[in-house]
Amino acid sequence: ALQLSDIRKSFGTVDVIHGIDLEIQEGEFIVFVGPSGCGKSTLLRLIAGLDDPTSGDINLNGKRVNTVPASERGLSMVFQSYALYPHMTVGQNLSFGLENLRMERAEIERRINDAATLLQIDHLLGRRPGQLSGGQRQRVAIGRAIVREPVIFLFDEPLSNLDAELRLQMRVEISDLHSKLKNTMIYVTHDQIEAMTMADRIVVLRGGNIEQIGRPLDLYNHPKNKFVAGFLGAPQ
Ligand code: ATP
Ligand code: MG
Repeated sequence: ALQLSDIRKSFGTVDVIHGIDLEIQEGEFIVFVGPSGCGKSTLLRLIAGLDDPTSGDINLNGKRVNTVPASERGLSMVFQSYALYPHMTVGQNLSFGLENLRMERAEIERRINDAATLLQIDHLLGRRPGQLSGGQRQRVAIGRAIVREPVIFLFDEPLSNLDAELRLQMRVEISDLHSKLKNTMIYVTHDQIEAMTMADRIVVLRGGNIEQIGRPLDLYNHPKNKFVAGFLGAPQ
C-alpha cells in the first residue's frame, strides 16, 4: 500500500498542501480531481519523489520513502506534455531510462518489444516524436512508463491534449492496461467522464485538502456538498 500521513507542502510562505492523509491499496485505480491550482500535480510530484514534502511521511509497502530518490521508488510518471526527447527515435525514447539503470541489452529489448506490442506502436520504433500524431506520442509516453515495470503509475492529465475521439480511445486503453497489469494507478484529470469510468476511488481535492473521497457512484449519489457534486457532474 501507499500511505500518505499528514503530508504538507509549502513553496516559500505559500502553503499548497495542507496535511493530507490517504491510503491507497495495491492495484487500486485512484483518480484525483479538483480545480486548477488545488495541488493535484504537486501531490503527484511528492509521491513520485520529484519534490520533497515540507513535512509528513510517505510510506510505500511499509517503508518510509521520503528521502528515497525518484529513480529508486519504483514509480513511473506520465505527463500531459509527453516530455519525449525530440532528437531520439521512439525506440531510443523507450530505452533511455533503462540504459541509465545499466540493464542488460536483451532485457531492454524484451521490455521495449512487450510495451510496443501492448500499445501497438511496434511500427513506430524508428520514428522521431515529431513524426507522430498526438495519440501516438501519448502512447510512447505511456510506453516509457511501462518499460520501467513500475509498482505504481502516476498520470498527470495524460489525455488533455487529445481530441475527444482519441481521448475516448486512450481512456479505454489505459483502463485495459490497468486490467492487464493490475498495478496501482494514480490519475489526475479534469474530465468527469474519465473520473467516473476509470476510478476505483475518486479523491476530490480543494485548496490543498481532501474534500471527499469514495467510489464514483457513492460520490455521485452522495456528494458532501455542491462543490463535490459539481466536479462529478452530479445534479446539485
Ligand atoms: P492544474 O489543474 O492547473 O494543473 P494543480 O491542481 O495541478 O492545477 P499544482 O500545480 O499542484 O495545481 O499547484 C498548486 C499550487 O502550488 C498553485 O497555486 C501553484 O501556483 C503552486 N505551485 C506549484 N508549484 C510551485 C513552485 N514550484 N513554486 C511555487 N508555487 C508553486
Ligand atoms: Mg496540474
